[in-house]
Amino acid sequence: MAKRTSIPKKVKEILRTEVGFGCPVRDCGNPYLEYHHFDPPVHITPHNNPDGMIALCAQHHKKADGSAYTNEQLHAFKKNKVHSKSVQGNLDWLRRDLLSVVGGNLFYETPIAVQIDGHNVVSFKRDSEGYQRLSVCMLSLLPEERIIIEENSWENIGEPLDLRTPPQGKELEATYNNGDYLYLKFSEVINEIDLQVKFNISPNVSTEFKFPITVVEINFAIGGTNISFSSEGIQAFGVSAKQSVISHCGVGFCLNYGIEWKQNPKWKLEKRYEVRPGNIIKVAFGK
Ligand SMILES: [Zn+2]
Repeated sequence: MAKRTSIPKKVKEILRTEVGFGCPVRDCGNPYLEYHHFDPPVHITPHNNPDGMIALCAQHHKKADGSAYTNEQLHAFKKNKVHSKSVQGNLDWLRRDLLSVVGGNLFYETPIAVQIDGHNVVSFKRDSEGYQRLSVCMLSLLPEERIIIEENSWENIGEPLDLRTPPQGKELEATYNNGDYLYLKFSEVINEIDLQVKFNISPNVSTEFKFPITVVEINFAIGGTNISFSSEGIQAFGVSAKQSVISHCGVGFCLNYGIEWKQNPKWKLEKRYEVRPGNIIKVAFGK
């Protein structure tokens, strides 16, 4: 068997975009995608030609490897662009304690890490079993759909320019046309030294953390503004912060600009009505 080369980044991008960033098998839509070679099968002719490849979730990739689908079916799946509403997935990172690193600053036991104009951009909630669940609400100046993660469940993605979600489910990166950007990464930090090295923080700030601890790193930017939370620090209309440690606070960063944020207009509306057979529209008032 000839040796197969790794799949070029560009090919992966084509395959992810083609299926709308979610597994194209009917009623699936899982956003954690892998890449399947089928036409010709890679054990017969090694190739990385996107025309004979398809992005599938891990489960349906296994089925495809077991010849569950014909080539005709796979080619048809390739044309089945998943609607953003169907791209849902539970984020697999459920932990009792999370240390969040937002824009290079550390937040510990801080339910609302970042709030902008009353929107909880990054927040955490303990569920009834004591696990911390993450919520993220991307802001945008455009009236377009943006990522919404509600208590670890991925509810919305919109139409990103690119969405990167390695199958291990530990990382997520979404880029939109206007410069809106979100990056999430979960990792285990084994001790204080590990924490200092990974996040470039000064010693003795982490005495209260119970190592090993799960860290969720969150960076984002809002297109058309100078709001940027990157690993370099936080920049937002004259506010800048770097490597600070915020612990046991209700709200970490609370910024008020009086901007009328426009993201997710339709999505909210769609939650309020559903179209029943016979074109009957059922509206849920008061939600
Ligand atoms: Zn699938």
